[in-house]
Amino acid sequence: MPASERVRLLRFTFAKSRAGLTLLTFTMPLLFAVGWLRDLVVLGASARWTLLLRLALVLALLIAAWLIRASGFSRRTVVFGILYTLVFSVAIAATTAIEPARLSLTHVAVMLMAVILLPFALSRLAATGIIAALALPMCGLLWHLGTPLALWGAYGLFFGAGCAIGLTQRAAHLGASADIFMHRQRLLERLHRDSLTGTANRDGWEARAELMRRTHQRAGTPLSVVYFDLDHFKSINDRYGHARGDALLQEVSTVMRAQLRKYDLLARIGGEEFVALLPDLDAAAATGVAERIRRAVAAIDTPASVTISAGVTQVRDGEPLETTTDRADAALLAAKRLGRDRVEQA
Ligand code: GH3
Ligand code: MG
Ligand code: MG
Repeated sequence: MPASERVRLLRFTFAKSRAGLTLLTFTMPLLFAVGWLRDLVVLGASARWTLLLRLALVLALLIAAWLIRASGFSRRTVVFGILYTLVFSVAIAATTAIEPARLSLTHVAVMLMAVILLPFALSRLAATGIIAALALPMCGLLWHLGTPLALWGAYGLFFGAGCAIGLTQRAAHLGASADIFMHRQRLLERLHRDSLTGTANRDGWEARAELMRRTHQRAGTPLSVVYFDLDHFKSINDRYGHARGDALLQEVSTVMRAQLRKYDLLARIGGEEFVALLPDLDAAAATGVAERIRRAVAAIDTPASVTISAGVTQVRDGEPLETTTDRADAALLAAKRLGRDRVEQA
């Protein structure tokens, strides 16, 4: 999968698992506050100060959870995710240091955190960071308590099992997302493509043109629309047959594509009507492109020769794209009235 597609897949997966991540990161911290009831029973009156510690931990975790939530899909999400895990595991270690008898529960908690958090790690870096953030405070705790080597081994195996389950779940989760994502991409690609000419169809135009318009509106750069219509195409069909007409449509679209840049959007939105969206070109520059296309179409060397007319206009600030295309269409009608095989600017 190419790198740009992979980023889109990860963004897709992130969007789908975001609700689960939010619920997890905001509800798990509350368990630390609830755990204080146990402190109260076991530690009695001295549990009062552990409440403050626990509330501080809950607050730190909620802040980390909020940072993950606010960072959306970015590199910072990974950093905040690791930070969250680190605070969580330091918190587990700290509450165990207060009451070492809980050590037999602590390693289960760390293992469960590995099982729960690892499926949400979208990148390898995130997965590695989460494992390290869980392991280091646990090692520190075992060191601090002077735990015998045999127990280190047992806890290590426990943690290893948790990581293995978490990583397997993560791989399955990402694998399923990749499958769904790729099918979805292929389907969209097919739905948005005109099967005859291979250019975008009307749905493809609608899916991309509005996005491009908004990008250019924000950047304040010019954007132009050219409306094309083949001249007297009905009579070409009548004279040479529909199959020849189809082949001519394919040739015309190939010629058009050759005159356009990679990021120009070309769509066949009617039978013998094409529309092009040209980023960074004002009306004058777009007229130059349309003129080049007109000449190239007229130069197509077949017995069934064809010409094309075009209407050009520039997108005006804040207007809906439909208004722009209507204006380009009106310019095209003017080109037809003025004799065809020509380009008119609105
Ligand atoms: P004008 O110069 O005024 O545009 O004349 P025209 O004949 O091109 O205009 P009109 O809109 O009357 O006819 C369009 C013709 O395009 C009708 C139809 O035969 C032809 N056409 C539309 N879609 C296709 C297609 O997919 N394949 C073929 N071969 N012809 C098509
Ligand atoms: Mg037409
Ligand atoms: Mg026509």
